[in-house]
Amino acid sequence: MRAARLFPNATTLEVIDLTTPVPTNDSVRVAVMGAGICHSDLHVLDGQFEHLVRRPVTPGHEIAGVVDAVGPDVQGLDIGTPVAVMVGWGCGRCQWCLTGYEQLCPQGLEAGSTADGGFAEYVLVPHARHVVPLGNISAVEGTPFGCAALCAYAAVQRVLPWLTAGSAVTVVGAGGLGQYALHYLRSLSDAIVIAVDQRPSALTRAAEAGAHHCVLSHEQVAAEILDYTAGEGCRAVIDFVGSDQTLALAAQITGTRGVIALLGLSGGHLSYGFESLAPEVTLTTVVAGTLSDLHEVVRLAQTHRLTMPLTTYSLEDINHAIDDLRSGTISGRAVVLPQLAARTVTS
Ligand SMILES: [Zn+2]
Ligand SMILES: [Zn+2]
Repeated sequence: MRAARLFPNATTLEVIDLTTPVPTNDSVRVAVMGAGICHSDLHVLDGQFEHLVRRPVTPGHEIAGVVDAVGPDVQGLDIGTPVAVMVGWGCGRCQWCLTGYEQLCPQGLEAGSTADGGFAEYVLVPHARHVVPLGNISAVEGTPFGCAALCAYAAVQRVLPWLTAGSAVTVVGAGGLGQYALHYLRSLSDAIVIAVDQRPSALTRAAEAGAHHCVLSHEQVAAEILDYTAGEGCRAVIDFVGSDQTLALAAQITGTRGVIALLGLSGGHLSYGFESLAPEVTLTTVVAGTLSDLHEVVRLAQTHRLTMPLTTYSLEDINHAIDDLRSGTISGRAVVLPQLAARTVTS
């Protein structure tokens, strides 16, 4: 099969031939129909998470496809079923896995970092529970579910207890994850939903996803957001950027007993102390979501569909796709279509 590999010391991917994996025991081979390229992939290529990455590896953690072959112990999963693939593959036995938090399993694997991921024609998923059937949604359409939608859903679930009717919540960063978060906030809460971004095009999409107020980043952005909250401050802020600047903004606009949820991996820091935050503010990070969150993302998509625009690329074009994501020219999600590449190569 064709796979885009990250070799030691490399900062770009190389598409090579690899042996197609064969499922054993409980594992499932998925023919990858779509693999999303995420900002965290850029951080991996830049060497920011070197301690978490096994090189050589096939990156790609946002994966959807169809079940192509199953191990002898897998039951009730038909070949050809469209599925979204869970990003974290836990051991299934530790306290975190047994309570549903497979993405936090200390022995677990992560697709695209410590195990071969979705930038290939096929991915071997270690257990059938890590694939979630998509029902009437196509695998390509369901590609963003495994990271963008899952992380956004988990973040919204985390802050939902703070969001009483009429309270305000701000989403910082209205890219792929942010747009899903805005959609879920409008579907699941009665809060006033504010989006902030430095890109006018992202704010256009934020308005389409249901944001009540779309705010372009500028010097006085905190004052503008506080105006929308009648001076009370936000009950919750979800930061999908995570830079020093966005965390400072979150601290400025979060009101008494509010919550700041951090997902963005830009490496910023927030000063923690009585002077730097409103009284009794809660700080939390969000690390992907649980397996049951992914099931819920798929279930919600059946009734409250958010059509995420996809910019698609062949596998052979993956470095071009990465450059486009880096330059900020992609609206919606950048998705590699490995099976399309296979057909192009063999035709
Ligand atoms: Zn991701
Ligand atoms: Zn575990």
